[in-house]
Amino acid sequence: MEIGTIRRQFASDNYSGICPEALRALETSNSGHCLPYGDDEYTARVCDMLRDFFETDCEVFFVFNGTAANSLALASLCRSYHSIVCHSLAHIETDECGAPEFFSNGTKILLAGGEQGKISPEEVEQIVLRRCDIHYPKPQVISITEATEVGTVYMPEELKALGELAKRLNLRVHMDGARLANALAALGVAPKEITWKAGVDVLCFGGVKNGLAAGEAVIFFDRKLASEFDYRCKQAGQLASKMRFLSAPWIGLLTDETWLRNARNANRYARILSERLSKIASIRIMFPCEANSVFVQMPPRMIERLHEIGWHFYTFIGEGGVRLMCSWDTTMEDIDAFVLDVAAAAEEIAGT
Ligand SMILES: *Cc1c(COP(=O)(O)O)cnc(C)c1O
Repeated sequence: MEIGTIRRQFASDNYSGICPEALRALETSNSGHCLPYGDDEYTARVCDMLRDFFETDCEVFFVFNGTAANSLALASLCRSYHSIVCHSLAHIETDECGAPEFFSNGTKILLAGGEQGKISPEEVEQIVLRRCDIHYPKPQVISITEATEVGTVYMPEELKALGELAKRLNLRVHMDGARLANALAALGVAPKEITWKAGVDVLCFGGVKNGLAAGEAVIFFDRKLASEFDYRCKQAGQLASKMRFLSAPWIGLLTDETWLRNARNANRYARILSERLSKIASIRIMFPCEANSVFVQMPPRMIERLHEIGWHFYTFIGEGGVRLMCSWDTTMEDIDAFVLDVAAAAEEIAGT
């Protein structure tokens, strides 16, 4: 092990490093001089690769992280007196420190419920139609997370229905795709089927959790909405001067379906982990494992014990419980080691 590294964990898919393909692409881009601020050939190439990926002529931008991608994308859709409807567990509500409201100068987030982390179309409609007077923050956007914050995946029909609802209610659709790759791997459909063809106007496409060091793509399927987005990025401190180092690693992900292999690996091991843990009596699986996370209820003493012996994981994400995430580099040995420790902790607790 190198300085400061720890064993592979299940706390989050951002514990992992850069995948070799992305690292090679980064290294390749590190030769000679290039134009700065996105005017380089690597960035142009990746934008074209993303247009091929989504099979449409979209506008593409790169920012440093997902909070910036979501916040700036939403700000570009909203005015300060508008509102955004999302699920109560949505990252934009629970994990972005108010950045969407901040960057949109006060746009309000309105929360809808829905089973298994998926927004309920009925609740969206109710929230939007509840009031249409001047005193209510005018609903402007539905924000959807695919895969969801609890590791479930919207089916293409569910997304199409939400897209149609948005159209009928005159709303825009934003998609938080921090784990879109995992959803695509799970569904086995073309990327266009669950994005622009389902009515998504702006997508935040995550690269980090799929194997990059940094850099999320903001993709405008409705190109008009991208007007002056470059200024928004610059003002927010999100315009990379050596942009090639944010964009070029995407070449590694998008070539020969590295993104898909990475996502499949994470999904596959999450499914195995879920199956193995479900056989331990004191553990209850909270959600169907459809992407790369497993949520479980564990006795508090088991959580304590696992933390004591060096396992990292969060207990405050989603609806509580323990969240375990697999990543592009998770291996069978990692699963074996964790499940062995869980089983030992279960026995210890049962025996006392
Ligand atoms: C990780 C994640 C993000 C991005 O988070 P940053 O830490 O800001 O990069 C966005 N949405 C969801 C659902 C996430 O899980």
